[in-house]
Amino acid sequence: MENGQVQNVLIVGVGGQGVLTASDILATVCLASGYDVKKSEVHGMAKRGGVVYTHVRYGRKVLSPLIEPGEGDVLLAFEPAEALRWSKYLKPGGTLITNLRQRVPPASCLDRRPQAAVRYPQEIQRSLRQQLGDVRVLDAESLAMELGNPRVSNTVLLGVLSNVCEFSTEDWTSAIERSVKPQAREINRRAFLAGRNMQFPAAEEEPAAAPAQEAAASLAIADIEIRETWCKGCEICVVVCPQNCLKMNDAKKAVVADASSCIRCMLCEWLCPDLAVNVH
Ligand code: SF4
Ligand code: SF4
Repeated sequence: MENGQVQNVLIVGVGGQGVLTASDILATVCLASGYDVKKSEVHGMAKRGGVVYTHVRYGRKVLSPLIEPGEGDVLLAFEPAEALRWSKYLKPGGTLITNLRQRVPPASCLDRRPQAAVRYPQEIQRSLRQQLGDVRVLDAESLAMELGNPRVSNTVLLGVLSNVCEFSTEDWTSAIERSVKPQAREINRRAFLAGRNMQFPAAEEEPAAAPAQEAAASLAIADIEIRETWCKGCEICVVVCPQNCLKMNDAKKAVVADASSCIRCMLCEWLCPDLAVNVH
């Protein structure tokens, strides 16, 4: 990077995807390389599936923490609809890195009738390719699951980002190691390298994103974990599930009725007042 130049990286997603951790790691790598860094973040309703975004700006001297629309060098999106929402922040020639896996927001699941259509933007990839030049699309969750833990998908995405924000592998892995527990270091190192070594096919060869309702078919069936002892039987998770995956049992506890229909919208996990649900 030339003297006086500032690199603008916008990282966006929804609550629980690791956006803030990723931006902390990027800021740590920038500082370790001697750059001035400014970071700002918004995560108001993150625990309820709300939008989370962070601006990271680095260079020899950075005056403002905010990226204006049309000024972003890189947009790292953990969720495809968020990539679309924030794409106007990229400058011409900027790079978009986006995860393919959809997280359907609660407002898109308001129709509770069985098999009702989930309102979610379609044709996202095509729309982004029409607007932008350098678009790198991957299914970070699938890669993370192959490595053994879907929760390292944010580290896979950081690996892809590392090819655009060119710091040394050692600086990246050292910052990642410091941000995770010792027992998670090895899998995060492998996740980072999987993203860093990823090759991106030409646009016309890329697979289309699965619509939200068909997402389950392209994945392993969701593992819906409900802690019986934490469940107080309020039925919220059963009522909000757009796919009727959950039901109440005779003991007034929520149980899984049909995991194969789960679209991983995460509503049950986000809205359970007792944190009794985890969707993997
Ligand atoms: S929302 Fe939570 S507490 Fe309520 S029924 Fe479901 S699992 Fe139990
Ligand atoms: S089980 Fe949970 S994550 Fe799956 S579709 Fe129903 S509400 Fe969404």
